[in-house]
This record gives sequence, C-alpha cells and structure tokens, in this order.
Amino acid sequence: MDILWILWILHTALALEETLMDSTTATAELGWTVFPVSGTSENSWEEVSGYDENMNTIRTYQVCNVFDANQNNWVRTKYIHRRGAQRIHVEMKFSVRDCSSIPRVPGSCKETFNLYYYESDADTATKVHPPWMENPWMKVDTIAADESFSQVDLGGRVMKINTEVRSFGPVSRNGFYLAFQDYGGCMSLIAVRVFYRKCPRAIRNGAIFQETLSGAESTSLVAARGVCIPNAEEVDVPIKLYCNGDGEWMVPIGRCMCKAGHEPVDNGTVCRACQSGFFKPAQGDEACLPCPINSRTTNDGATNCVCRNNFYRTDSDPIQMPCTTVPSAPQNVISNVNETSLRLEWSPPRDSGGRSDVVYNLICKSCGGRGCTRCGDNVQFTPRQLGLTDTWVYVSDLLAHTQYTFEVQAVNGVSDQSPHSPQYVSVNITTNQAAPSTVSIMHQASRTVDSITLSWSQPDQPNGVILDYELQYYEKDQTEHNSSIVRSQTNTAVIRGLKPGGIYVFQVRARTVAGFGRYSGKMYFQTMTEEEYNTSIQEKLPLIIGSAAAGLVFLIALVVIIIVCNRRGFERADSEYTDKLQHYTSGHMSPGMKIYIDPFTYEDPNEAVREFAKEIDISCVKIEQVIGAGEFGEVCSGNLKLPGKREMFVAIKTLKSGYTEKQRRDFLSEASIMGQFDHPNVIHLEGVVTKSSPVMIITEFMENGSLDSFLRQNDGQFTVIQLVGMLRGIASGMKYLADMNYVHRDLAARNILVNSNLVCKVSDFGLSRFLEDDTSDPTYTSALGGKIPIRWTAPEAIQYRKFTSASDVWSYGIVMWEVMSYGERPYWDMTNQDVINAIEQDYRLPPPMDCPSALHQLMLDCWQKDRNNRPKFNQIVNNLDKMIRNPNMLKAMTPLSSGVHLPLLDRSMPDFSSFRTVDDWLDAIKMGQYKDNFANADFTSFDLVSQMTMEDILRVGVTLAGHQKKILNSVQMMRAQMNQIQSVEV
Ligand code: AMP
Repeated sequence: MDILWILWILHTALALEETLMDSTTATAELGWTVFPVSGTSENSWEEVSGYDENMNTIRTYQVCNVFDANQNNWVRTKYIHRRGAQRIHVEMKFSVRDCSSIPRVPGSCKETFNLYYYESDADTATKVHPPWMENPWMKVDTIAADESFSQVDLGGRVMKINTEVRSFGPVSRNGFYLAFQDYGGCMSLIAVRVFYRKCPRAIRNGAIFQETLSGAESTSLVAARGVCIPNAEEVDVPIKLYCNGDGEWMVPIGRCMCKAGHEPVDNGTVCRACQSGFFKPAQGDEACLPCPINSRTTNDGATNCVCRNNFYRTDSDPIQMPCTTVPSAPQNVISNVNETSLRLEWSPPRDSGGRSDVVYNLICKSCGGRGCTRCGDNVQFTPRQLGLTDTWVYVSDLLAHTQYTFEVQAVNGVSDQSPHSPQYVSVNITTNQAAPSTVSIMHQASRTVDSITLSWSQPDQPNGVILDYELQYYEKDQTEHNSSIVRSQTNTAVIRGLKPGGIYVFQVRARTVAGFGRYSGKMYFQTMTEEEYNTSIQEKLPLIIGSAAAGLVFLIALVVIIIVCNRRGFERADSEYTDKLQHYTSGHMSPGMKIYIDPFTYEDPNEAVREFAKEIDISCVKIEQVIGAGEFGEVCSGNLKLPGKREMFVAIKTLKSGYTEKQRRDFLSEASIMGQFDHPNVIHLEGVVTKSSPVMIITEFMENGSLDSFLRQNDGQFTVIQLVGMLRGIASGMKYLADMNYVHRDLAARNILVNSNLVCKVSDFGLSRFLEDDTSDPTYTSALGGKIPIRWTAPEAIQYRKFTSASDVWSYGIVMWEVMSYGERPYWDMTNQDVINAIEQDYRLPPPMDCPSALHQLMLDCWQKDRNNRPKFNQIVNNLDKMIRNPNMLKAMTPLSSGVHLPLLDRSMPDFSSFRTVDDWLDAIKMGQYKDNFANADFTSFDLVSQMTMEDILRVGVTLAGHQKKILNSVQMMRAQMNQIQSVEV
C-alpha cells in the first residue's frame, strides 16, 4: 500500500508531458523538407539512419559543410498540430563536431544552429513557402552544444550527444512547423521531440482538480477550480489550485473536509464511511471514533452511536460520553425516630448508572387500614423532599402513633427517560407519641361584665385523644406569674370572676396522654364595662316591650328574668358561636338546641335537601378515582375547590344513571340528614350536586376508609389507649346524634369511617336499607317492616322495632367488641337465629383477646336486656375519658369466666384437643403462616408447643407484636386446657 501510494504521489506531482511529435518513433523516413533541396546541393541537411545511445535505429539529419562559406541550410519538420497547447517545448538531441578538431578548417566553421517555428492554421507549407528566412519564421534560439566531439564517428560508437530543450509561446494557430538552420557547422540532429506540458488530474486538500494545460508563458499560472471528493464538504472557498508553466501544481487555496460520519483515508483522497461500531460526529480531518461504552451504530457512516437498550443520554451529555442508565436503589437506609420526627440516612446506590448526578427523592406514605396513602402537605422535609444531594433527610410534623413507609428513590439525569419507576429502598417506621400541636385559633363567643366565653379550634395535630385543655389567663398589665388556670374537657370555656372592662391575656394548650402541647399565641379579650352592659339592656328593652304585648305582668316578669340571666352570665343570644358551643358544652338539651328533622316529614323531600345541603356547582368538583361501591352507585375520591376556599380532598357518592325518582329521593335523604349535623365525630357533608348529572353527595374524605376493614388490616397494631381513643370518638359522635334525637339504627364498625389522624366518625345515614326489601346484603335480615342487622341490634328492636338511642347503645357495645377484636365478626359463624336465641338466654360475647376488663364491662352494660339499664352515650364518653386519663384502669384483664352474664364460648380460642396436628391448630387460630417456622424449630407436638414462652415465639420468627400475643394467648389456653384434662384424669 505504501509503495503504491508513493508511486501515486510521484505520478500526481510530476508534470505531464504530452508529445506532439517525436522523431525517434518514426518507423519510416522522416521526410522533412530540406533547403537547399537535396540533390541540387551536395551539402544540405541529409536524412541518415543511425543509432541512439541504446543502439536503437533512429532517423537523423546531418549536415557538415564546414569548408564552404556562407552556408544557409534549413530543414523543416512536418506540420505539427497544436492540440490546445499554448506553450510548446522542443527537446533536441544532437551532436556537434568541434571546429578546432577539424584540420585546416576555415574561420567560418560553426558549432551552433538556429531553431525556428512558423504558425499556420493548416498544413500549407511548400518547398518555397514559407520562405527560408527569419521573418516569417520566428527564431526560438541559437542552440549550442555543451559538448562537441572531435572524432568524426558517425557509426555511432563514440557519440557525445547533447540534449537541449527550448520552449516558445504563446501559440494560437491550429499548428506549426519547426525549422533548424545550419550556417556552417558539422552536426547531427539525432532526435527531436515536441511536446507541451500540463498539470495532471490531482486531489489536493480534499478536492479533485482536473488535468489542466499549463499557460502560454513559462511564468504563467493557470487557475483550476476544485470539486470536493465524494462525502467531503467545502470548508474554505474558493478551492483553487494553480498550474504553473512547467505543468506543476502550486499550493492549493481553500479546502474540503470529510463530512460527519466519514473519515479521510488514503492520505486524504477518499472520505470513507465510518465502519460499524465507529462514528464521527462532525466534519473534519479526524478519524472515526469507536462507539462509547453501551452504545452502538445502526449503519455505516454513523454520525453518532445510539444507546443500547436501557441506556440513555441526556440532552447535555457529550456524544462521546458512554451511555448511562438509571441508578440502583440506595442502600443501608437507617431511620432514627424521635417522637413525630425522623432522620433518615442511607448510602449511595451500588451502581450510579455510570453518572455523577445521582440525587434522591423521598416518597412518604402513611399506611393504615386501606393500604398506604401519600402523606399530606403538612409533613416537612429538611433540606427538601425531592432532589436531595446529600444522603440524609430530616422529616418532621408526622402524626403520632402512625405507621409510615418512606421510599428513598435514587434518580439521575436519565431516570426520566426510563420507562421503569426509580429504584428505591423503603423503610417502615412507626412514630411515637407526641404532645399535641398548638391551638391556632381562639374566638370570643360571648362576654359579660365579669366573664368571657372562649372557644378554640382543635390542634391541627392532636397526636392522640385530647384529654383536656388548659387555659392560662391574666390581666394585661400583669405578668404570667400572676396567671390563673382553667381546665376544660371541651374546646370551650367560660372564665368567670373577671373585672368589668378588664383586658385579659389568654393562652390555651391541649393535653393528651403524651402530655401538654405548647401554649397558643397570646390573645386579648375584654369584659364588658358597666356602661356597655347598661346600653345593651336598654337596647333590648324596647324590643322586648314591643314584641311582648301580652301584658304588663308578663313584661315585668320577662325583664326580671332577663336581668337575672344577664347578671349571671349574659351570653349574646345572637352570637355566631352559640349554636356550636351548645354542641360541645351541654350534655342535656338546652333551649335552642337543634333537633334532627326527618326529611321524610317534608311534603317535598327535595325541600329538605335544599334546606340542609348546600348545592355545589359541578365545576368545583374534580373526581379522581373510584374507591368503593355505595348502595346507589360508585363512591369516588376527588377534590373540591369552592370559591374563596382552599381545595380539599373529598369523597363523592354518585347516583348511578337510570334511577327512579324514589331512588333519587332516598339517595339524597342521606344528605338532608347528614347536612343537619356538625360534629367532629360525625361525617361532615360538604354539599350536593343535584343540578347536573350524575347527582352527587360530597363529604369530607376519610383516608383510612371503614373501621372494620381498617382494623382487620392492622390486626394487633394499636395500643389499648389508641383503641379506646377511637371508641371515645365514636361515643362522642353518638352522644351528639342522640342529643339531636337522631337514632342511627345501623351503628356498626362498617359504618364508621377513619381519617388519617385515626379520628373515627359516624357515617351512613341512609334510610333506604331499612325500607326496601330488595337488598341482597346478608348483614341485613328482613324483618317485619324492614331489614335489620341482627348481630348489632338490640333485642327489643329486633322483636318489636323499638329503635331508640338505647338500642343504638346496644349496637355501640357490639362496635366496642369489633374494635377490641380488630374487626372480628360478632358471634363468629353463628347463624342469626342462634344469635337471637343465645342473647335471649343471656349469653353475651366474651372479652376479645387482651381486652381490659373495664372495657368488657362497659360492653356488657351496653348489652343490658332492659334498655333503661344501659348507659347513656354521655356516660359512655365520660367513662372512656376516665380510662384514658387513668390508663391503670385498663391494666386488669378479664378472668376466663366471670360476671353475671354467661359468656359465649370464645371461638377465637379453639380447643387444641380437637386438632390432629400443630399445623391444624395454627390454621384454626389464623396463624397458619407460621407453620414452617414452628416445624423448623421443632415445635411439632402439642406438648412442646404448650411449653412455649414469649422468647420461643420470638425465636421461631414471629415478629409482629399482635401475632406474638395471639400465639402466646393460645399457648396459654392450650396449657390451661391440658391442665383441666389432667385434673379430670386424676
Ligand atoms: P357507603 O355507601 O357509605 O357504605 O360507602 C361505601 C364505601 O365507600 C365505604 O365502605 C368506604 O370504603 C367508602 N367511603 C364512603 N364514604 C367515604 C368517605 N367519606 N371517605 C372515604 N371513603 C368513603
């Protein structure tokens, strides 16, 4: 290849000579024209055969008339075609006899001859034309020999041959003749070659230059335009090369370079496409580069390499950079929980995907009954939640006693190109107890000359059941050291014994079992001055006088009553808080307390909807996903954005299309009922959509869904205090409903909804279920005049439909049992009839596992046969509050059989002797998932299992606290049953 290449260079570098005439190639006589004509003079030029230096036969012309003076001998070539040449070169080989070597030679002896040319468009010369003289002939030069020879030896043995080249131009006619004039020498013209020069076809600087004839003068330069070679592009223009007079190319101007995807080879004369696996991103002289790691070409001539599957480049990644992939999951995540905060640390992923821009995102999910939901906006992340560059984050403002799952995702610059979700490592944590957050809003509800009634909102994060609030107050001019304290179990308090017109500073804080939260900010309120008080009385008197025209006595009586009332505590009757305060303050019904109105008492139930439910424009509602099936259609989650209010997450019950007017009425009746309620433990109605289709009922969203399934999914996961907190909420909601004279008739864990703060709210106010006969739900059994959920219903309601708040209390007792057994079905698999019979015979449900006896006692109270002996909801609330304040009350567990009621056989604790194997027994206590653990640890016989301790249970690999307890209890039961058998045998 190299040798070929060098030859090629030589070929292209050398000037090309194009021969127009060569005397040595003549095969016959040359037959040039001689003057004077041969034969007439003995001494003119004469054509003679001879030999060249290689002893080839050649035709030559000789003359040797040195002894005759005035010689003028011409010989003229044949017509020579110019063939486009502008400058003609003549190479002459000749020998000349040295005059001094000729004895007695006269002085006229010459050692030179003259060269002429004559231009003509056609071969028109004759013997006499053109005349044999300078002008018309053009003299080119007088040619002298470099060497002459002294021995005449025309045999060619000792020949000294001179070679001379002369050129002339410009020539422009079609052709020309040459003539050689001798004027007295002795010489031999051995060879004459006539040629012109041209620059050969050449490739320079990536461009092709065609063959170009040299110019007319030896100094002239002929410009040639170049054309880029295939797959090259012009860089500097114009691309020019000059051909000089000697047929040589000069230095090129401008250049072409190989295009992207092509590289120069063969010393820049060819642009070759990059081969498979190689690429060239841009025009230039560089060679193709091998594809970066994890990339490949799809065809020859690649300008870039595409990434292999699952490898990517960002827009800003250089094309020469290897393709990269997504990172693997972060490693070794460590969590450190501190109350409701958490520090997470992790190690970078094992594989960064080949990139240095790995960052971390944190996904926070709070996990409850119905799986996990994304954490709300209130959770704080420091330094931030997404795009963390450090391998740690601090998370705060979590809810207390809540399970969270944190996913630490590793992402890099190409993660968004991958169809797969980022890889992550997750960690489950449960927050600890924490004091409640601060109360943010406090209102003055009313005031008198010596008292102020305040109400405030619940802390945003109660972090548990609020036991009570502590209100600290002092006169504005005093300091905190002089403050007084008032405690309240509700979020309202009347502060008495204040000075008239006094300005007081108030701060409030909430308390849970975890202790006090922080005090709220200081709020200033003022009591009435005496003047204000008098003015308000005077303002009221005319009104009273005007309206009470019944008589003076009545008037006086009324004035006295008003004065007395106001002296004791004049509370503004029209205060916007009054209604609400009543809800929280009074256990008994106070005048003005709202009473529930049955929507079916309206002549037009739509009127009830209009009165109790706010109409919402459908444009404010955004449905997101279906979360359940209601009786009348799907239940969805979504967002509600009312004008001027913050967007909120809501549940949306829809009425499926094709409904009858009656179904529409029944469906909306739930809204007319719900819309009358306003209590933190009763599901809150946001409004209804009735003016567009589908008809909707919109309520607050309860993240953890219904209580029964929530508990089943979190079996054994809560503390007794947490369970009691839930029960307390339900009781409080029921107390409110009972106070409103509303009888629920279907109180059951399935009809309680749970939000993300574990707050339980009474729901399901639909009436239709009891009225219609066509439901197929086996929970509800047809009874005379409607359907009844037997297991939850008091005997008098089953027997003669006596539904009262007392029958709701019975149902509440069943709910307590459901809660304490984590969603077990009341009376297990007994038939409805068996249940009715058992209750009739005074059998009652036994305490669920680990149920404190105080709670079971409360259940039994709720299940008193005589409904008048059952506690009222306000007593239940007080009772539970006492337990929460005094957790020692919850320590005692119920002995196996006690009390006046006969406990049903606890079917959650089966008799071990009815099983053949330990596996069967584990299945029966619903712990079948640990069969392998037991077998592997050789706990394969009842004898061995009955001896198991908590440590053994841990050792076999039971890690969930609830499961540990369940197994330990069953083991203890087995032991007790064995002892019984033994004592009987004894
Ligand atoms: P219902 O027709 O009221 O029994 O509702 C059917 C199901 O929808 C319930 O069991 C819940 O799982 C769900 N659901 C109803 N209301 C809500 C709500 N306010 N928040 C969350 N889920 C709800």
